[in-house]
Amino acid sequence: MDRDQLTEHLKCAAEVGVSGVSRDPEWRTRTRDAGADARVRPKAPPEAIPTIAISRNADEALAAVRADIGDCTRCKLHTQGRTQVVFGVGNPEANLMFVGEAPGADEDVQGVPFVGRAGQLLTKIIEAIDLKREDVYIANVIKCRPPGNRNPEPDEVETCEPFLFRQIDIIKPKVIVALGKFGAQTLLRTDAPISGLRGRVFEYRGAKLIPTFHPAYLLRNPSAKREVWEDMKLVKKLLTQN
Ligand code: URA
Repeated sequence: MDRDQLTEHLKCAAEVGVSGVSRDPEWRTRTRDAGADARVRPKAPPEAIPTIAISRNADEALAAVRADIGDCTRCKLHTQGRTQVVFGVGNPEANLMFVGEAPGADEDVQGVPFVGRAGQLLTKIIEAIDLKREDVYIANVIKCRPPGNRNPEPDEVETCEPFLFRQIDIIKPKVIVALGKFGAQTLLRTDAPISGLRGRVFEYRGAKLIPTFHPAYLLRNPSAKREVWEDMKLVKKLLTQN
């Protein structure tokens, strides 16, 4: 029986009221006429056996969120020239997650976040703390490109952010880096400027959240790379703490 068949089998069993399985040999060799109780409620198994609920791994859980988004028409961005939904990329069990604002032109074409010039700089930032892009998870608050790269509007954020929250809750990163004012303000529900947020560590959905400057800002203001480097050293330190 392959994994899918097993999953289906266990789901069916749960639907008909089977609340657990047991490896107890006595239970396995029970007779048909031993009574309903004996059939469905084995005596306490000698070892802890998980009940019917099969936890899907993070990869499958993310795929389910992606499927849920589908070819999204929930907000007006689908009528404003976006090519496709840009979901997220990377390790579904990453300890470190980056959250940006919204896809730009390159991301809209490729369907992958942070692949343009800002994305190339983000890759260098990740490598500066001895990680690879594949080690981390990268997503945006908004999954569709706003026209002309304008700022996402409140109704778009409200519609889209639950999907980001689901991504975070599945990945359960130890550290989240919020890239730029928009990502940080959205996650932290604040209007505070990024200059007032960066340099601090926030508790967020079970993770440490570190706001830092957006790589696109760094392309325009290379001198701010020094602060981002400080932030990334802190990220590295938090990642190595228990
Ligand atoms: N800027 C973002 O905030 N996200 C991207 O994916 C690309 C650029």
